[in-house]
Amino acid sequence: MAAKSTPMMEQYHALKQQAEGCLLFYRMGDFFELFFDDAKLAAGILDIALTSRGKDGGGDNGGEPVPMCGVPVHSAEAYLARLIKAGCRVAIAEQVETPDEAKQRAKAEGRPASKALVKREIVRFVTAGTLTEEALLEPRRANRLAAVCDVRGTIGIASCDISTGQMVLETCEPAAISAALARIGASELVAPEAWAEADEETIFRPRSDFSSDDGERRLKMIHEVKTLDAFGDFDRAMLAACGGLIAYLDHVGRGNLPLLLPPETRSSDALLAMDEATRASLEILTSQQGGRAGSLIATVDRCVTGAGARQLAEDLSAPLCDLDTISRRQNMVRYFHQDPLLRADLRDVLRGLPDIGRALGRVVAGRGSPRDLGQIRDGLAEARQLRDFLAAKPDQPALLEALLPSMGGHGALVDHMQRALVASPPTERQNGGFIAEGYDAALDELRQVSGNARRAIAGLEARYRDETDIATLKIKHNGVLGYFIEVPARHADPLMAADSGFTHRQTMKGAVRFNSLSLHEEAGRISEAGGHALAAEEAHFEELTAAVVQDRQTIAATAAALARLDVAAGQAERAAEGNWCQPEMRDYEVLEIRSGRHPVVEAALTATDERFVANDCTLDNDDRLWLIGGPNMGGKSTFLRQNALIILLAQAGGFVPAEGARIGLVDRLFSRVGASDNLARGRSTFMVEMVETAAILSQATASSFVILDEVGRGTSTYDGLALAWAVVEAVHETIRCRCLFATHYHELARLADSCDALSLHNVRAREWKGDLVLLHELEEGPADRSYGLAVAKLAGIPKPVVARAKAVLGKLEQGRAQTGGLAAGLGDLPLFAAAVEPEEQPEDILADKLKTIDVDSLSPREALEALYELKKAATSND
Ligand code: ADP
Repeated sequence: MAAKSTPMMEQYHALKQQAEGCLLFYRMGDFFELFFDDAKLAAGILDIALTSRGKDGGGDNGGEPVPMCGVPVHSAEAYLARLIKAGCRVAIAEQVETPDEAKQRAKAEGRPASKALVKREIVRFVTAGTLTEEALLEPRRANRLAAVCDVRGTIGIASCDISTGQMVLETCEPAAISAALARIGASELVAPEAWAEADEETIFRPRSDFSSDDGERRLKMIHEVKTLDAFGDFDRAMLAACGGLIAYLDHVGRGNLPLLLPPETRSSDALLAMDEATRASLEILTSQQGGRAGSLIATVDRCVTGAGARQLAEDLSAPLCDLDTISRRQNMVRYFHQDPLLRADLRDVLRGLPDIGRALGRVVAGRGSPRDLGQIRDGLAEARQLRDFLAAKPDQPALLEALLPSMGGHGALVDHMQRALVASPPTERQNGGFIAEGYDAALDELRQVSGNARRAIAGLEARYRDETDIATLKIKHNGVLGYFIEVPARHADPLMAADSGFTHRQTMKGAVRFNSLSLHEEAGRISEAGGHALAAEEAHFEELTAAVVQDRQTIAATAAALARLDVAAGQAERAAEGNWCQPEMRDYEVLEIRSGRHPVVEAALTATDERFVANDCTLDNDDRLWLIGGPNMGGKSTFLRQNALIILLAQAGGFVPAEGARIGLVDRLFSRVGASDNLARGRSTFMVEMVETAAILSQATASSFVILDEVGRGTSTYDGLALAWAVVEAVHETIRCRCLFATHYHELARLADSCDALSLHNVRAREWKGDLVLLHELEEGPADRSYGLAVAKLAGIPKPVVARAKAVLGKLEQGRAQTGGLAAGLGDLPLFAAAVEPEEQPEDILADKLKTIDVDSLSPREALEALYELKKAATSND
């Protein structure tokens, strides 16, 4: 028979059940312990010792020793951070009564007190999307949680960053879901059970959680309103997703909801649409290597606060499509760009600001510390001063004028907190010491009482030394005995006497400890006053917290305004540093970029003292598709991407790396790179290339901007050329959007004859004394040759191999000259639009036959015969 579980293990198994697949942190004294598979997994991730305890027959353990590992409670956050990073979710089971209480309970229930087991409960789930702790969050990155659901064919998405309370509701078509989720970049995604689009990391919740009625009800309750009209227009799908999101937050917080600000709606039309492949290939927030280094944001970000950096990341992931808002943002950048002194002053102030948005998040979530309150106080006070400073400046741009009012208005709260809190409050609240002197007379008195008693104890020490003649007598304090008198053992005897006035407490090696009535009294005063003082401070903490919670929306608005200022000043700084310009924005299809540069490639080159060659790009309705040829490494990809990035930066509301730019608003941005390795997803590279290209052909509009880099490269020469040819034609004839197409197929140059809005360009290269010189300069006209062998030589292919390749190439070119080359058969290919004929309808014999039958004139026998005939025709038709 299998061994039974101990009561503790039974309790553990019950809690583990409730943990729903999360790792269970089981509190035992000063440690959180993990058992069984949890322990094995955590020990591996955390690199801590895996031990074992007792034996257990519960669960499926079958009486084996229980694997176990533990982390100290005081440093649990650092371990949690690593587990969350590794993709784990953790349930925290705390002791919810003291051992004494457990014993009392046992007695009351008639069980032996010695076997009393402390009650434990899961108090919280820690998951990637629901963090608020400073130590677990990255300061410069938002941390989002998203919930999705499908309401009659419309996808609702609710997302929030509970570290700052920001919440966004949106809807999209089922086809656009992955692009929307890629934009949001949530660290945790919640969906109804059996949701078809789920991946292995999706968290499933009951379908009933995603109820639009519940969503609406809970939003109204949280924000204490009767209707949601003031916040925006929300449809059923949005509210259902919101219901799912709030239900999940409720679940992980065990009924404690975090900070949630009124939801904003986001319409996907208002944003520049970019799908996941485009985001990845443009390396907006992370480079292809996976980190921030080498990404667009890493070269653009000059924000001096974490909140600013988070706002910039959001701006770059969701650029706008609305001329007015874009111009307002750009004009504020210009304002700070034109005035370097103002910019420097502003940035100096911002640099010293605490992250009030996140401090607020912790306070509202009930995990705030006195330090968080102090940060909010200091941040709000600084914001008010900054407002006064900026308001005094002439000619403010409209956006700045709109932001300034939300930076003040907390006068009473700030004054209150300035009176109540000490200058730098501690992160721990249980030891007190954060309420300032003079704020609460009763508290001051309690502190005076314990201060007096402390002084009295010091006085006692002097008096006892005198009276006993023991110069080494000391009064000390520890956690077990409290205050005590200590003398060296050799002086202890006189104090042991019954009438000495001292009572013996403890004999140590070399020292003996005593108590005395006076000491006992003074110590009692200290502990009583101390206890009351702590309780008073705790009450003040609650009251200050409530005041902050009350003002949460306006505090969050101040935080948002400061972040926006930081973004603008940072963009201005970056522009000044790199000689960037304010683009002119237009509402028609144009793209004129003078001396544009790729910010990331340029930064990399500058670091090694190389020069980036700037290039122009001019596209309009008459010349909207550039076919770009030239040698490998010539700079084609760089040119394609720099133009896409310039559009993105402009529509995000910033300046751009160019001498001048006129940009017609783009509704969708597509970037495709031929045959990039994407085997991880289990599709062949060519398949991926085609799936991604298909998306462009179905989604791009005349206002889109498309860059295609060597599409068709992933298959055989003939297939690739044919596909590239057809894609270029479709983009040119049907979609008619602005497009840059890099290719190494010379044959495509022939398209210039038939496509009138297409022109040929190439990146220049020269061979000089047998060596290839890449000029990285774009010029008009087809590429003269591919320089493949020269590139091979540059790359270090051994000379004999290059020589042999040269000979082979000679033969091949001879052959091509004779046959007319790869594209020899293309001379009389009709134009794309003409070539696409409607598919022929198969002829319908049955219908024809039926039409000829005059039913009224048929005898029953003839009718039967006709039926047989029809049946025969139908079968032969199959
Ligand atoms: P291609 O797509 O033609 O193979 P890339 O765009 O990948 O070429 O560029 C190859 C390298 O050439 C880049 O990594 C960069 O170092 C350099 N390069 C590209 N464009 C420029 C430029 N405009 N000025 C200077 N160097 C450049």
